[in-house]
Amino acid sequence: MARKFCVGGNWKCNGTIEEAKKIIGLLNSAEVPSEEDVEVVIAPTYVHLSLVKSLLRPDFSVAAQNAWVKKGGAYTGEISAEILVNLGIPWVILGHSERRGLLGESNEFVADKVAYCLSQGLKVMACIGETLEQREAGETMSIVAEQTKAIAAKIGSWDNVVLAYEPVWAIGTGKVATPAQAQEVHNELRKWLASNVSSDVASTTRIIYGGSVNAGNSKELAAEPDVDGFLVGGASLKVESSACLSIHQ
Ligand code: PEP
Repeated sequence: MARKFCVGGNWKCNGTIEEAKKIIGLLNSAEVPSEEDVEVVIAPTYVHLSLVKSLLRPDFSVAAQNAWVKKGGAYTGEISAEILVNLGIPWVILGHSERRGLLGESNEFVADKVAYCLSQGLKVMACIGETLEQREAGETMSIVAEQTKAIAAKIGSWDNVVLAYEPVWAIGTGKVATPAQAQEVHNELRKWLASNVSSDVASTTRIIYGGSVNAGNSKELAAEPDVDGFLVGGASLKVESSACLSIHQ
């Protein structure tokens, strides 16, 4: 079964109301392939979710950048999956390396979040990836396999999961993985899914790449057979974002 190309735009902790409206204007007028071919998911900050949802073209979806690990309640500052569902937000990004690295989110914690959000009906972009030290130590595959294994152990279905391979050394650094480097990890991840989950999950789960993707490098990356889309950070805030979103196989 063909995997629909998927492009996420992660605005991180950026954006005024005016900037958000400007980017949405660009996205709304962008010429992109039909939603049959490409799925576009925009992840603004929490406080801009409703604004973006109300203004964004209907063929694009909105994602939160995080969610609490279980049912909401006395967790000051957190946002639960139920609140996102109630707001009509269909997607959530979980396990971003900035949260793993800066806030200490462990593989287990991320996996619990993935499981809980799926149980509430959200679609999840689950981020995994190795640091530069880990890559240089030849540990890339074991690290991403550990991260994926933690998730696989806690979920019953991969239908609503997109895996985002985001090497930490490529995020926000301008240092993009080469198409061959991305393809190698995506292909290994697919093999891992085939051996440890099922061949069906391996062939249907979308594995997208993130790390300094922009309009200039996206086409080459998209040509790799196991690259099923992108998670775009910095470039999704720029004028070029619409060009980047339009790249697909
Ligand atoms: C990201 O935030 O997920 C990301 C990939 O950032 P950037 O594109 O800026 O490297």
